[in-house]
Amino acid sequence: MKGKRVHIKSFGCQMNKLDTALVTSALRKAGFSLTGSEKEADVVLINTCSVREHAEQRVLSHLGHLKHIKKTRPDMVVGVIGCMAQRLGDKLLEHEAVNIVCGPAQIPRITELVTKALQEKAKSLAVTEKIRKTTEKQNQTLEKFESAYGIEDEQIPGQAFVRAMRGCNNFCAYCIVPYVRGPAVCRPPQAIIEQIKKLADQGVKQVTLLGQTVNSYKYRSGQRTYCLADLLVMASDIKGIEWVKFVTSYPSEEFFDQILQVMADSPKVCNYLHLPAQSGSDKILRAMNRRYSSRWYLELLDKARAVVPDIAIAGDFIVGFPGESQDDFAATVEMVKKARYKNCFIFKYSPRPGTRLWRAGKGLEDDVGAEVKQKRNIELLAVQEKVSDELSRAFLGKEVKVLVEGLSKKPHLNAADSGDNPQLVGRTATDYIVVFNGPESLAGRFAKAKITRTSPLTLFGELI
Ligand code: SF4
Repeated sequence: MKGKRVHIKSFGCQMNKLDTALVTSALRKAGFSLTGSEKEADVVLINTCSVREHAEQRVLSHLGHLKHIKKTRPDMVVGVIGCMAQRLGDKLLEHEAVNIVCGPAQIPRITELVTKALQEKAKSLAVTEKIRKTTEKQNQTLEKFESAYGIEDEQIPGQAFVRAMRGCNNFCAYCIVPYVRGPAVCRPPQAIIEQIKKLADQGVKQVTLLGQTVNSYKYRSGQRTYCLADLLVMASDIKGIEWVKFVTSYPSEEFFDQILQVMADSPKVCNYLHLPAQSGSDKILRAMNRRYSSRWYLELLDKARAVVPDIAIAGDFIVGFPGESQDDFAATVEMVKKARYKNCFIFKYSPRPGTRLWRAGKGLEDDVGAEVKQKRNIELLAVQEKVSDELSRAFLGKEVKVLVEGLSKKPHLNAADSGDNPQLVGRTATDYIVVFNGPESLAGRFAKAKITRTSPLTLFGELI
């Protein structure tokens, strides 16, 4: 489709960003060009997230805006892809602005769907009927698409994300992912490693392996069973790859010892662990269908720190889950104090139709008031901020190695000392954000900075 311009807007997690890269790559190869401007696009695709109500509201309000644009440009094609597309299916297709609804497991069809919509002006629905019962053929189609596309679409210079596994089998009570992304399927290690080799040949230095529960990666090939620790070793052995990271982990014993040992042994495997706890109350953890106790979780962190002393750990918490009493929340506050996370993502619970809790009829019992949720959110953030601040301060005067991402979006802090250099942002192996002045040509390369100032979430330094 030469001459047709596509604009893609992406919401949500790293998985979604990876899907956006794959879709972009496939459309480019089919002759479409990309545009950053919705106004000049022939096709607008929105890659959506269903994890929180707020994310879906944003998409719906954007569709309202596109409906308005389509009044003057009726030929413009609008496609909704991603988790919200799978969740709402034909209901979303009824929206006046929408031409295509395509679930995450159907993205290999994206070029066909967009071409058809442009040529025939018809509406198309591509969602997976029985998403929890995907067939081998469907998995192979996704694998083929994944291996063929996306590898040239680095979103951050020098870095790339590679999927290790799709879907999830955990059914946490609040989570829609198992119902929109299907069962956990691990990609063959050979395919993952081949992809990383190609990325390394293109100059990628840091690769992040992705999975909803990436630590439980397991793939049987012949006599051998591969786990995440094997993938980490194999990825680190690839020439040109300097740092290997992985997200997100689920707190379980599965392969944890091997993963920690590889982190301790391999200088290329970054000492960073994102390990969502979600609550510090055992009662709430049970209600969430998380299969660990708060004590066990904290012991896991102790073990991680014993094996990898300089490990940086990040957490996720949900406040205001149904039934969360003041005592339950106090247990969460205690956990955050004890866990000493580098940073924490804190969310207010919002009931999601289709989740386990919703199916059990309990999703409607959103019984912690909005004000209480807000208060708990602020309180927990303040507790975490204090910990983050203490951990950041320990970097004062130290030298850190960073992989430079590019220009910093923050206002220039020390423009007077910058010479002609702009302000750059990079991350350490342990995922600390570092801001410093330097030449833009450093984007995608490693640099060293001496830390001169800190804030809870950012280190500020001088280029060495
Ligand atoms: S582990 Fe739980 S929260 Fe994470 S994707 Fe799976 S069901 Fe959702």
